[in-house]
Amino acid sequence: MTTDRPSPVRRTPWPESASRPVVTPLQPSVVYAAASPDALDAQYEGRAEGYAYAREGHPNADVLARKIDAMEGAEGGLIVGSGMAAVTGVMFGLLKTGDHVVAGNQLYGRSMRMLRAELPRMGIAATLADPTDAGAIAAALTPQTRLILIEVVSNPTLRVSDLAGIAALARERGILLAIDNTFTTPRGLRVFEHGADIVIHSVTKLLAGHSDAMLGYVAARDPALQEAIRGTAITLGLSPSPFDCWLAERGLHSFDLRYDRASANAAALADALAGMPGVMRVLYPTRPDHPDRDRAAALLDGRGGNMVSFEIAGGRAAANALVAAAQHIPFAPTLGDIGTTLSHPASSSHRGLSADEREALGMSEGFFRISVGIEDADLLIAEFRAAIAAACPGA
Ligand SMILES: *Cc1c(COP(=O)(O)O)cnc(C)c1O
Repeated sequence: MTTDRPSPVRRTPWPESASRPVVTPLQPSVVYAAASPDALDAQYEGRAEGYAYAREGHPNADVLARKIDAMEGAEGGLIVGSGMAAVTGVMFGLLKTGDHVVAGNQLYGRSMRMLRAELPRMGIAATLADPTDAGAIAAALTPQTRLILIEVVSNPTLRVSDLAGIAALARERGILLAIDNTFTTPRGLRVFEHGADIVIHSVTKLLAGHSDAMLGYVAARDPALQEAIRGTAITLGLSPSPFDCWLAERGLHSFDLRYDRASANAAALADALAGMPGVMRVLYPTRPDHPDRDRAAALLDGRGGNMVSFEIAGGRAAANALVAAAQHIPFAPTLGDIGTTLSHPASSSHRGLSADEREALGMSEGFFRISVGIEDADLLIAEFRAAIAAACPGA
């Protein structure tokens, strides 16, 4: 056995460079070697900066978190492994047995499951109420209510919450207001400026924007709450992958451009859809026929975002024909990609509901939701015109 050359198992030092990379380096290391036990103490006690183990934090997550902090007007926000990890961090970090949550009744499907299936097992009760009516939220509060969770624009009917009314209520009663800002994004609405205590994102969607990274973000205005969420997230292992953080940071560089383009496209497509034969109804928050248009104008600065929903005649058969005819538009249950995608709540996000329950929410078999991308608007309008004509030949 020779001992005169280093084992290939030993790591090779990173090459020195007097100049620095322009691009954020990707750092996949799970572990960080400290200089000494004293040095590690200094790190854990906050006297020195540094990382120890990636579940507790890593540079790519922190670079991304500081960027989203700046967008949201937050400080010390946390990146986690998915949007649902962000919801989990809030619920399990801040609530205890006996607490009660009031939540919007059209939340993201898995958030609903968290409230209906997971929290009750921990002795935390939840009541769902209509967030377009602060009175309905008020009526659902109990002396045990600790948290209100809403989304500003609902999926898929794009109703706009009474944010001013709910924020006033939360403040008055000393209840935390958490907002899932995934649909609206900080470019649409900075929720801390409207009374939210906690902001949640599925970074997977518009912020990362390319359907290739799964991440979440959560920030609390109160640093003590943020620390509680962070500690729970580390213990539950909600931590993000460095590579996904790196991809999302890259995606964020074009976020403003993508959001503006996608919103303008969505507004144009919504207006065009409204004039197409076979289309019975178009839902877009800033259209004059939308039930919450005044709130959308006030809260969202006159912009409706990138989501459009519409309904065609002809039931499931027409829905199948439309998806088949819209060859270039992926039929996929996601949103926020650079490319336009089409989803059908009755067979995906809302398949767990009965047909009657879906009808009550205004989602028939002919109901579609479009996540509008950044393609040329004229191309998109032409593609939808052709697909709808193929699906509704008699119209
Ligand atoms: C997708 C989504 C989530 C969950 O995010 P994941 O990254 O898929 O875990 C939560 N809320 C909203 C509004 C979403 O659209």
